[in-house]
Amino acid sequence: MARGRARDHRASVLPLAGARFARHPDRRGDCRHREGVLHLRSAGAEAEQGPRDRKGGAAPRRETAQQQAMTGTAPVAGTDHGLVDIAIIGGEYSDCWVDDSRLVILNLIDAAQNGACILPRTRAVRARRDGGTWLLEMHGDDGTTQVVRSRALVNAAGPWVQDVIQGVAGLNSAQSVRLVKGSHIVVPKFWSGPQAYLLQNSDRRVIFVNPYEDDLALIGTTDIPYHSRAEDVAIGEDETDYLLQVLRRYFRTPPQAGEIVHAFSGVRPLYDDNADNPSAVTRDYVFEVHGAQDVPPLLSIFGGKITTYRRLAEQALQRLAPWFPKLSSAWTADRPLPGGDIGGSFDEFANRLARDYPDLPRTLIHHYARLYGTRARQLLGPVRSAVDLGRHFGGEFYECEAAYLRENEWARQPADFLDRRTKHGLHLTPAQRVAFESYL
Ligand SMILES: Cc1cc2nc3c(=O)[nH]c(=O)nc-3n(C[C@H](O)[C@H](O)[C@H](O)COP(=O)(O)OP(=O)(O)OC[C@H]3O[C@@H](n4cnc5c(N)ncnc54)[C@H](O)[C@@H]3O)c2cc1C
Repeated sequence: MARGRARDHRASVLPLAGARFARHPDRRGDCRHREGVLHLRSAGAEAEQGPRDRKGGAAPRRETAQQQAMTGTAPVAGTDHGLVDIAIIGGEYSDCWVDDSRLVILNLIDAAQNGACILPRTRAVRARRDGGTWLLEMHGDDGTTQVVRSRALVNAAGPWVQDVIQGVAGLNSAQSVRLVKGSHIVVPKFWSGPQAYLLQNSDRRVIFVNPYEDDLALIGTTDIPYHSRAEDVAIGEDETDYLLQVLRRYFRTPPQAGEIVHAFSGVRPLYDDNADNPSAVTRDYVFEVHGAQDVPPLLSIFGGKITTYRRLAEQALQRLAPWFPKLSSAWTADRPLPGGDIGGSFDEFANRLARDYPDLPRTLIHHYARLYGTRARQLLGPVRSAVDLGRHFGGEFYECEAAYLRENEWARQPADFLDRRTKHGLHLTPAQRVAFESYL
C-alpha cells in the first residue's frame, strides 16, 4: 500500500517506519544523481499515483523525526540487489502491506462474530422502500431467493456502485465513478534480499516490485481508463509490455514475458472528479445518501482505499446516525482483526507457535501464523505431527487447512481454497490442482 495513503494508522497492518534516502556505499560523495534521488522520493510518497491525501497533516513531522533518527546505510548493500548501475542511488522508505482478499475475509469473520449474517455468493437484485424500511430481494447462486427488511442500506458495490443505485434501488445518482484498470504480473523472484522496489518510469508513474510468496515477485500496476464491464477485466499485452519495459530499465537480468507465472487485474472505482489524467483522479472517497428523516436511507460509497477502510466505515456510520440515534461511538481504531491478537511482534508469535508444535515444519508454522494469526491454533486443533495434517495437496497445503477454510471461511469452490483464501494455487502443479478439485 502506498505510504502517502497510509497515514490513518488504524488501517495499517504494520507500523510505518518512515523514509530515508540512502546511497549505495560505492556512490557516497557522488552528488551527480541528487536529482534522481529527489525524484524517487516524491514518487515513493505517492505510490498509488493519486494526489497527496489532504488529511495527512501529522505525517511529515513524524517522517522527519524518523529520518533524523536513522543512519544512511543503503538497504541493499551486501546483497545482490540486481539493479543496473544508474539505479543504485535511491530513497529508502518503509511501507505496510496486506493481502487484500485475507483482509476481506477477516472483516467478514469479525462481522459474523459481532452478530452479522454473512451471505456469500448472493446478489442484491431489487430494493424498494416499504414505509419506514427497505425490502431487499437477494438471489443466491443456488437458485434461492431471500427478502430481508432493513432500516438502512449501505451500497459498497465498488465498480458496480451505480448499478446498485439505479438497477437495484431504482434511484438516480448525482455522482459517478471512473473505472481505471490496474494489472499485475507475478514472476520468479529475480534479486536477493527481502527488499521491495519502487521504480520511477519516464511517464512520471511508479511501479512496485515486491517479494511475493517467498520465491516470487509481484509487479504492478498499470493505470488505464476502462470502459467495459468490471467483471470482465483482464490484463492486456500492452500492460505486460509496459511493466516488463520498466524492469528492463532498472534490473541487470529482468524477467522475460515467458517467465510470467500469473497475472491479474482489478478495476479502481474512482470518484469522478473530472481529472484529465487517470493517474491523477482522486483516491479519496465520497458518500451519497438518498433518504430523508422519515425515509429509510441508501448510503452509497464512491471511491476509497484499503488503507482508509476503517475510517471510511466509521464515517459512513456517522452519516447514518440521524436514522440510528442510539448508535454507539466508534470502536474499531485499536481493535485487531480476528487472529490479530498476537501480543507482540509477528516473529515472537511465530516462534511461540513453533515451540508449541515442535514436530511441524517451520515453514508450515510460518504459513499458518501469517495467514491465520492466533486462529492458527483453532486450525491445528489436535494436530501434533505431520501425519495429523491429513492429505497433502502440494506445497504447504494439507487437508486440515482445507477443512478449516470450509468450516470457518465460507470456502466452497477450488478457487476459494487455492487462490482467494490462500495463494496455494501458485505453488501447486496443474496435476495437483486437478487432484484437489477431484477431492472437493
Ligand atoms: C489495481 C489496483 C490496485 C490498488 N492498490 C491499492 C493500494 O495500493 N492501496 C489501497 O489502499 N488501495 C488500493 N486499491 C483500491 C482497493 O482495492 C479498493 O479501494 C477496494 O478494493 C475497495 O473495496 P470495496 O469493498 O469498496 O469494493 P470492491 O472490493 O470492489 O468490492 C465490491 C463488492 O461488491 C459486490 N457487488 C457488486 N454488486 C453487487 C450486488 N448487486 N449484490 C451483491 N454484491 C455486489 C462485488 O461482487 C464485490 O465483491 C487498488 C485497486 C486496484 C484495482
